[in-house]
Amino acid sequence: MRSPYFTDDHRQFRAQVREFLVGEILPRAADWEELGGLPREAWKLFGERGLLGLPHPRGAGGGGRDLFTSVVFLEELGRLGFGGLRAAVSVHAYMATHYLAALGRPAVHRSHLAPAVRGEKVAALAISEPGAGSDLTALATTATPNADHFVVRGTKSMVSNGMVADFFVVAVRTGADAGSVPRGTTGLSLLLVDADLPGVSRAPVPTLGWRSAGTATVTWDDVRVPADRLIGRLDHGFYYLLRGLQLERLVAATLALGGMDRCLDDLRAFLRERRVSGGPLTEKQALVHSIADLATELAAARQLVHHCAWLYEQGELPAEECSMAKLHTTELACRLADLSLQLQGAHGYVATADAARTYRDARAATIAAGPSEVMRDLIGRSVLRKTIH
Ligand SMILES: Cc1cc2nc3c(=O)[nH]c(=O)nc-3n(C[C@H](O)[C@H](O)[C@H](O)COP(=O)(O)OP(=O)(O)OC[C@H]3O[C@@H](n4cnc5c(N)ncnc54)[C@H](O)[C@@H]3O)c2cc1C
Repeated sequence: MRSPYFTDDHRQFRAQVREFLVGEILPRAADWEELGGLPREAWKLFGERGLLGLPHPRGAGGGGRDLFTSVVFLEELGRLGFGGLRAAVSVHAYMATHYLAALGRPAVHRSHLAPAVRGEKVAALAISEPGAGSDLTALATTATPNADHFVVRGTKSMVSNGMVADFFVVAVRTGADAGSVPRGTTGLSLLLVDADLPGVSRAPVPTLGWRSAGTATVTWDDVRVPADRLIGRLDHGFYYLLRGLQLERLVAATLALGGMDRCLDDLRAFLRERRVSGGPLTEKQALVHSIADLATELAAARQLVHHCAWLYEQGELPAEECSMAKLHTTELACRLADLSLQLQGAHGYVATADAARTYRDARAATIAAGPSEVMRDLIGRSVLRKTIH
């Protein structure tokens, strides 16, 4: 689709990245689903192509590319149609390492960010806990300062890449209330924790979809983390997370666009091929109208996401637009996946069918990075606060 947001460089990059993803990643993606997480080989392939740190500053080991280069990459990654793969790569390249690129010290850029960009180290972001998901004020994992280190204690749940990560960016409670009744927005910090430290343990979490995301429950049992592994400033974690979550939502929305492109392509191919009562399904007006409605909504959703990316690129933090983009695209992806499965009949319902995987994967995205209900809360409050002209 023509768009004012993309230059010839972006279009050239799209062609290159599509060739790489379809030629080298897609043939392996189903095996990685079976494996339950991306193997070293996968990270190396992405890293060699410079796709694991596109927006990070060059000085920090990244590609220094503009945000629309990432939009292209994420749409194309989404187009592969494997939700787990896209979650694994985007958590690594846009969510966990984002905090290192934006806030990490030069030593951390050298020791962790640069190897992560090269695909030599795998990153995960550990915020959610068994008792705290969308409510960040309830986070209870503590990091108690002790001489030259922190002692980390707690459990993180639903950590994508958790089974394969070499290091975690962990949200911890460092404030004065650490150790007592933990609650509130103050006293949260971000820590970089290596996976091989004594006291770190992880267990796989089997999930409905996103099967190559290597989801884990990670437990920190009195883990001694050097004090210089603090990311940013002490007790500023809540503020950092609120900013980081906007990027997460924009990334989730962009991936959803690509996923819907794939879903619609697969559905169109099926409808053209499948013959019922002497003709292809594309001749059934009821089906044609359903496709028309969803394709129209997808076109509108794409404009919202690109506008949101443009605002972000201008240096704004478009919280309302990020929430709208995430809410609308991930819910639309569920509706499209549902229609696709329905219109492919029993063929789509077979567990190994692309339509079945798309259906399973779509459900994760309306929950991860903030459930739809939370998005509606944020959007509704923001809209109601606005001045009436
Ligand atoms: C596939 C997957 C991958 C994930 N990966 C990661 C990861 O890598 N790192 C990480 O830290 N976390 C990860 N998460 C966790 C994710 O961020 C949380 O699931 C999410 O924040 C919601 O938290 P929760 O599931 O505990 O739901 P809760 O906060 O317990 O909420 C349960 C439900 O209640 C409803 N609800 C919640 N708040 C409101 C409200 N204000 N108003 C109305 N209804 C509401 C929603 O329907 C919500 O789904 C992942 C989750 C999934 C599903």
